[in-house]
Amino acid sequence: MMLEIIQIPVLNDNYIYLIHDPVSGETAVVDPALAQPVLDVLDEKQWQLTHILNTHHHVDHIGGNLDLKEQTGCNIIGAKNDQHRIPGIDILVEENDQISLGTHQAIIIETPGHTSGHIVFYFTEDSALFCGDTLFAMGCGRLFEGSAEQMWLSLNKLKSLPELTQVYCTHEYTQSNGRFALTVEPNNKALIARMEKVNQQRNHGLATIPSTIEQEKETNPFFRADSPDLQKKLKMQNEPLVEIFTEIRKRKDRF
Ligand SMILES: [Zn+2]
Repeated sequence: MMLEIIQIPVLNDNYIYLIHDPVSGETAVVDPALAQPVLDVLDEKQWQLTHILNTHHHVDHIGGNLDLKEQTGCNIIGAKNDQHRIPGIDILVEENDQISLGTHQAIIIETPGHTSGHIVFYFTEDSALFCGDTLFAMGCGRLFEGSAEQMWLSLNKLKSLPELTQVYCTHEYTQSNGRFALTVEPNNKALIARMEKVNQQRNHGLATIPSTIEQEKETNPFFRADSPDLQKKLKMQNEPLVEIFTEIRKRKDRF
């Protein structure tokens, strides 16, 4: 049986995800900014929280850790590299480690760039990627603690996942990301079509997440440094792809 995934919108634009295995009853929460909205859904669904999965140490990803641990006795899984910044951490993970929820396995992928210890959780058989603030719909995280080169390598790891992988990022930034994407690839038909749909969804207050790796390859400028149109627009033909990526990131910071 597939995992059941519930998206809980909190704060201005954050999403918390609950992941439930109906066979074992095990339930994980990804990046709980707050505890109470998670406890409310657990109560409503009659689920018992067994794990917290943290992608990185920012407060809007770990704010609910200690309250949830105290109230449910769950285990907290986070990056070994960031163990001193993840409140209540129990299980330290690094690149290629596997964790399980019932019989469902998730691989840990290290994705430094937004923070130095950022990790993502990739549930292989369920084709679900929980990528925190590394990859966004049509965007990527800001470089607070890492270099553009690091982020480029991190994003390329995610780009190489199967195209139908569902991308569950932590923020609803899609519409503004798409507006920026159009400035560097104004003639990308897939991008124009996606933005029409995103604008409709946001007009109705709907979430635009999850997307897929395939959609991101077609429309996310941070996955598209190799696009001839984009290179031409930036006047960066024949430059190393990482330089083009770096320029796109700089432009987005100013946008
Ligand atoms: Zn963050």
